This record gives sequence, C-alpha cells and structure tokens, in this order.
Amino acid sequence: MEQTDLQRDVDDLRTKLDQFAYEYFVLDQPTASDAEYDAMMNALRRLETEHPELVTAESPTQQVGGYAKSEFGEVAHPRPLLSLSNVYNEADLNAWDQRAIRFSGVAELEYVTEPKADGLAVALTYVDGALDRAATRGNGIVGDEITANVRAVRAIPVKLRRPENFPMPETIEIRGEIYMRKSDFEGLNNRMAESGGKLFMNPRNAAAGSIRQKDPAITAQRPLRLFVYQIGYVTGAPLPATHFECLEWIRELGFTTSLDAERHASVETVWTACEAWLDRRLDLDFEIDGTVIKVDNLHLQEEIGYVARDPRWATAYKFPAMQQTTRLLDILINVGRTGTLNPLAVLEPVNIGGVTVGRATLHNEDEIARKDIRIGDAVVVQRAGDVIPQIVKVIEERRTGSEVPYQMPDACPSCGTPVHREPGVAMRYCTNATCPAQLKERIHHFISRAAMDIDGLGPNLADRFVDLGWIADVSDIYRLDWQAVAELEGLGEKSAENLQAAVEKSRNQPIWRLIHGLGIQHVGERTANLIADRFGSLASLLEASADDIADIPGIGGVVATAIHGFTVEQVNRELVASLEEVGVQTRDESVSYETGRPLSGLTLVLTGRLGSMTRPEAEEQLRKLGANVTGSVSKKTSAVIAGAEAGGKADKAQQLGVPLLDEEALALLLEGNVPAALADAATD
Ligand SMILES: [Zn+2]
Repeated sequence: MEQTDLQRDVDDLRTKLDQFAYEYFVLDQPTASDAEYDAMMNALRRLETEHPELVTAESPTQQVGGYAKSEFGEVAHPRPLLSLSNVYNEADLNAWDQRAIRFSGVAELEYVTEPKADGLAVALTYVDGALDRAATRGNGIVGDEITANVRAVRAIPVKLRRPENFPMPETIEIRGEIYMRKSDFEGLNNRMAESGGKLFMNPRNAAAGSIRQKDPAITAQRPLRLFVYQIGYVTGAPLPATHFECLEWIRELGFTTSLDAERHASVETVWTACEAWLDRRLDLDFEIDGTVIKVDNLHLQEEIGYVARDPRWATAYKFPAMQQTTRLLDILINVGRTGTLNPLAVLEPVNIGGVTVGRATLHNEDEIARKDIRIGDAVVVQRAGDVIPQIVKVIEERRTGSEVPYQMPDACPSCGTPVHREPGVAMRYCTNATCPAQLKERIHHFISRAAMDIDGLGPNLADRFVDLGWIADVSDIYRLDWQAVAELEGLGEKSAENLQAAVEKSRNQPIWRLIHGLGIQHVGERTANLIADRFGSLASLLEASADDIADIPGIGGVVATAIHGFTVEQVNRELVASLEEVGVQTRDESVSYETGRPLSGLTLVLTGRLGSMTRPEAEEQLRKLGANVTGSVSKKTSAVIAGAEAGGKADKAQQLGVPLLDEEALALLLEGNVPAALADAATD
C-alpha cells in the first residue's frame, strides 16, 4: 500500500471511530453496532502496530490504556474555578436576584437554569483543537493534573469537533463534571463484588476514585461520562454574548451539556424550574444535587462581579438534605485548636444517601439543651452536601426512660484545666495555652493538605512528637532532630529521610498556605489568599491595622477584627519570629511588596469590558502594584477605569467628579506610571 493511501485509511478509521464515540456518548444515538465499532478499532490498531510512525496521541486507540503512569502533579488554574453561593428557598432566591440586579445597574436580569450533576469538577484545556491538559478543581486555585487519565476516558473528546455556527478557538478551557450514571455504577459495583474488589459507596465516589487511578488503563475501563457547563476562558475567538450561546458553542465542539438548560426572562419562572428538578431527580439515571442559576448576559456577569472569589452572578439551589433515623450512643468532647470544647455525637452507623454516618456535630451545649438531646435517644440525622452530618431532632415518642441527659465537663478532657465559659457565649474553652489537645489540633491544621501540605507527616506521627515533647509549637517541626526521629520505633532511616525532605520543602510554600496554617479564626484558604495578595509578607500583615485589613474587598469587619486581634497577640508575633528563624518563607518573593509601591494610596474601580485582559486579571495586577481595587464608586475613589460599554459606574464617577480613565491610561498604570491628575492621591 502506498504511504498516502495508508494515511487515508488510518484517517478514515479514526474519523469514523470518533464519530461513533460522539454519537454514543454525547448524542446517545449510536448508528453503528458495538461489533462494528470493535472491528473498526481492531483494524486501526493493526495498521498502527504495523506502522508505528502513524500513531498520534489523539488516535482513538490511544484512549484505552497504555499510558505512562500519571503522577498527579499540582497545576495552578489560569483562572480560578469559583465556588457558588447557595439558596435554599424562594425567598433566598429572590433576595439573591435583587442583589444581582442592584450590582448590574439594569432593571431586570435574564437567567439560565441547569441541573447540577453530582460528580468531580474538572477543567479541560484544548490547544489548537486537541486536549492539552486536564485538571481537577482542587481548591479552585490549584488542582491535580489528570491529563493521562482523562485521555483514557472515551466519553471525553481528545479532539474538538469543528463547530458550524461558532468559530474554532485557539485555546479554550472547558469546565464540567465527570460523573457516573446510576446504572453504570451498579454494573461496576457488581463486577467489583464478583472479583472481590472494594465497592464504591455512591456514583460520585466511584467517578472520583476512577479518575484518580494511578494506572490510566484502569480508568479506561470505568464507565465515566462528562457534563460540561461553562467556558473557563478562550483565546483566538470572541466569547459569545450570553451563557446560553456558550453552551451551544461547547455542544458544537463535541461535548454533552445539559439539554435541559432553560432561559428565563426574569427571576419569576426560575423557582418553578428549581422545584421541577427536585421532582425529576429520582427519575434521572444520574445524581444531581441541585440547580445552578446564572445570569445569562456575560457582560452583565462582569458588571455584577464577585465577593472574594465567589461570583455574585451565579448561585445554586441546593436540594433539601437527606435524613435518617438512628440512635445516639455517646457524646465525646473534641478540643479544638482554639481551645473550644466541641461535643461530638457517636451514632449507631446509618446509611444516608449512600454514605455511612457514624458521627454528627452537636455544635455546643446550648444546642444540646435546646434540642434536649440525651444519650440513648433515637435521633433524626441529616446530611447535606459535604458538611458534617447534624442531628435535626430527637424522637421523644421513642424514649424508654433510660436515656441520660448530658453534662458538659467542667475540666478540659485533655489537660484537666478548669474550663472557662464567657457570659453570652455558647462555648466552653480550655484556656491553657500549652494544652496538648489544642496544640495537636493546631499542628494537624498546619501540616494539612489545605495549609502547609507536609507530605508524610500525618496527625498520628505529629501527636507522637507532641507526646515526646519534641514539638511545642508549629515552628518546632523545623527543629526536629532527624537522627532521633529515625530511631523511633516503626520509622527507620528511609522514612525519616523522606519526612525530612518534605519538611524542608514546605519551608518554601507560598505564604497564603502559611497564613492559612496559622489557624487564625475565620481565615480559610480564600481569605488567606486575599491577605497574601494584598500584603505579600507576614511582616506587612503584622504592621497592618484592622482598617487596612477590612479594606481588602471580600474581607468583612468581623474577619478583619479577628485577624488583627491575632497579629497583636504577643505569643503570635513570637511564633512568626520563630518561623522566620527556622527559615520558613514569610514573604512571596515574586513581587516586591515594600511600601512605596507605585500605586499605593490609589483606590480604583474597574468597569466595562477590557480588550487586552479580563477585569479580574487587571484587578490582580493593580493590587500587586499597591492599588486598592473596590467594586463601588464613592467620593473616596481615586479614579474609575472604564472599558467598552461601561454603564452606571462611569456615570456615577462623573456625578461625583471622580476622574475617568480609559484603557490606555490603565496600560500606563500597569507600568507603574501614575497620571498627573492622580499623583496627589498616590503620594500619601
Ligand atoms: Zn486543655
């Protein structure tokens, strides 16, 4: 056979196989039988075996295993994957609509509703039409790289189809949910049971577990599917004007989107759609956990903006929680890292929506008293999403008289210090600053994956170090005597060496991880990121006033007060000094955060559509140069930067006499040049 004929045959087979996969997985209307499909696949495999030079990464044969082991390296998302706020009823929804309208500057907003599949959120990047990278959502900022495994999933295209009514993008990031159908999940569990394998609890766990296989060949055998719901970003082609058109575009590129996405002219019909999905969910062959509601107009989405990293232009209606009845066997006390005594319910294990629940939170003693919860009671337990299960109520009719009312302890169960209860506060505290239980919790948090992420140093080993007296605060982790560690029973030199390497490496974690790891009240990953972006170093954070902190968009007064309260505490300042002393990085090196940054003192507002970058990108760069970027125009605003189609904010600037800048002026600002009109503001 001539080389060109051969190439044509190979191309022909690949096109047919891709078409088949598309019809099968996306359209759900295959035009060929499984036998025909297998025959074509075998023919292609034979040709490729004889002519290995013709094998490409996008060939359908390469999607069913044979890949190098994936290592799950971490990747930073170019644009964060946002989380959504929740609404639980019609009143919440209407309040959310009113807020969005207020920020949009228009009288009424159009919405799109879509069911929310319960699976694993992923971001897929295609460059020049081919799958380039796949990553899990992770914490929204950093996820795990799962490209090799995603390539092995037949239902996910490795090549984009050429769209008919939309352009072909250069780069496009597509976001969606990898999930498993209920019927496929049952089939998989039956096969696992036959082969003596471990069973999955529910379709979501099965999907997440399948995509996280070390060997992509195993992933290839799992019946995974993909629902896409959003474009993360795109280059080489303009974004359509609305979310609804984005869905059409994604569909033409060869993906499954929800065909039931509905457009609404106003919020009035949205609630009906949410309730309809609640009714329909049990009839579907996949699990959904709610309905997502988005503002349809993308330009208005940008106008409405974000709170911290959550969009104000989208929300999710969460379905009511699932409940079950079980028995309360005991109440345990867990001492938190701030010294709070947290009562924890020990339950007779019960299956709620596919998850076995054996523990539930009891919040505090007032809650126990209010619900009159006694040990031995029959209780109703509910689980909603990923939150810790809760006790809804006691079933009093089932009481036998043998139930025992609960008495909170007067002393810390860990160190025996008498507990302290402030008037008006529902919590009891252990006030012993050296309480081992608190210290252990603080260290668990510091080393956790969400904070300093020290590989190999788990809670049990950390507890051992505390019990041995080797760790008295988190900085002592960096003072461990590795020779002594190696001599501990059950460790050995090799594990001690690995552990030491992981500890050393964690010294250079980005400082948001360190800030999160300090365990300041109310400071989670998101707030830690905002603080790190603004201050860039712990030294600057320690200098900041509560007002400085409250000025950061997305950080409210209560949180700012808690952060400031932490920074003025002598013991905390000593801890920071101690961390610096052992060589933990306490500033982000990439940017200079010294005072006297070119734009410090300027308060800026961005509005309208920018041509050269997105608004969040511009905001981030301006902040790094020291500017304070806020969402609303006031007399304190130094200037409003208006892109195309700027609306109400530009008008308001003119009313208040606030200077208006165009995108050219923005470019100058980003180079650190302050226009003369603003120079006064920038010097203070
Ligand atoms: Zn204690």
